[in-house]
Amino acid sequence: MIIKGRRFILKDSVIIPEPEENKIVLRIGLNATTTPSLAFADMKYNKQAGIMLVSDDGYASDFDIYKFLEGGLVDKYGNTHTGIRGTDGCGNPLNWRMTWALTSAPRDVEKASDRTLWSEYADTIAAGYGYSNHTHDHTGYDKYYQLKQNEKYIFEKTGYRTRTMVIPTADAGYSDTAPNVGYLMVGSQFGLDSPDDYADLVIFNGRIDVKTINQTRLDRFLMGRNFYVTFNNDDTMGIRNALINPTLDGSSSSGSKFMGMIGMHGAADGDFTIFQREMNYIKNHPNGGDKLWMPSMQEFVEYYETKLDVVKTEKIEGNTLVVELDLSTLDTAGLNRDMSFLLNGATITGIEYAGADNVTYNSTTGLINVFKKNQSVRNPYLDTPPPQIIEATRNGNKVNLLYDRPITQSQFSNAKGAAYSVSGNTVLSVTGSGIDWTINCSIPVAVGSEFSYKMGRGNAKGVDGMLVCSYLGFPVG
Ligand SMILES: [Zn+2]
Repeated sequence: MIIKGRRFILKDSVIIPEPEENKIVLRIGLNATTTPSLAFADMKYNKQAGIMLVSDDGYASDFDIYKFLEGGLVDKYGNTHTGIRGTDGCGNPLNWRMTWALTSAPRDVEKASDRTLWSEYADTIAAGYGYSNHTHDHTGYDKYYQLKQNEKYIFEKTGYRTRTMVIPTADAGYSDTAPNVGYLMVGSQFGLDSPDDYADLVIFNGRIDVKTINQTRLDRFLMGRNFYVTFNNDDTMGIRNALINPTLDGSSSSGSKFMGMIGMHGAADGDFTIFQREMNYIKNHPNGGDKLWMPSMQEFVEYYETKLDVVKTEKIEGNTLVVELDLSTLDTAGLNRDMSFLLNGATITGIEYAGADNVTYNSTTGLINVFKKNQSVRNPYLDTPPPQIIEATRNGNKVNLLYDRPITQSQFSNAKGAAYSVSGNTVLSVTGSGIDWTINCSIPVAVGSEFSYKMGRGNAKGVDGMLVCSYLGFPVG
């Protein structure tokens, strides 16, 4: 019922008033007067292992993949599938969810027959799937623009704000830039260039023990993945051996719990049958099936963000454990704030809640799932951009840089190398102030030269402290 704009939840004849904005209250009934422990599950739904599947570039087959996993829908071959489902650990069906890593500029010229439509993707997002930022152009020298332009475009089209990215090709500049503009996870096969100067942080084998995810990891989460280049037997068996089996076999209820990641470019025609075979392989694996979590990249990483940032307080009132979850410290860019807890030391007799979208629980295992979506995700158009270079011009042995607002900088190299470089030239020094800066070179700057700035090596920043992002191959006019 709605009373003066405030929602009240009626359960077991007890009305619980809606708590303050960003707060969730659980009243957990216990079978005895005791003080049980309530801890976050290592994985959402207390799953034991996970696989993330990411399809890049928006091919038309993405929609058939969704129809196969979701079930009950006729794919383009005229087949209807049963779908693949586990449970939420509390008896409710839970579908497998994928990530669509999309570019916006190539989609502007899309042919409907070649790409999945936004309206089709909308069905998948409603089913819990997620988007990932694959940059605006799938190329480009201005790394901030590539990320932000695509983020804005997807938001404008869909209302979904991306907080993970997939590096196009194996381009440099994103392991640097993406975490600086709030991205929680960067996925890639991580070739030579894409780690930038952070190769020591890259999870090269494509799987991570989720017990090792802490704030430091989330600050620059460079998650490797394996890739179905084609769906022939060599490739698919290779990925079973290199990723799927180690992820599932290496996980156990009491030891490590691995999440692995696999990329692909859709699965059209002949590939689609083999894709189905591989999904069934994962489903039927002893540690697959209902032990498996298959979230979107964003759902995955936001679970750990929520786990780290939520403020949880507990108190006992007779045989009731009252839990307050304060989400006001969370980044408003986030969407998924679901939490899974394990209650130990008592048996749950019932749960009343307020402020959450839904709560499910299992009296036998002590699992409690709290579902909460942020209904007012921050609009990326309202974000303050970092200082940007708007022009680079040749002037004898110099490249003159014009910024859109004043910056300061004092560090031009570190142990990893020089922050500034100019193609076919040697940088001697960088001088200037405010919005005007000069790269001083050893010889005249040739027509067609490009300059680069690697943000991980310099300290260029605005007066507000916002760091200048990487430019790799900025054309000098
Ligand atoms: Zn791509």
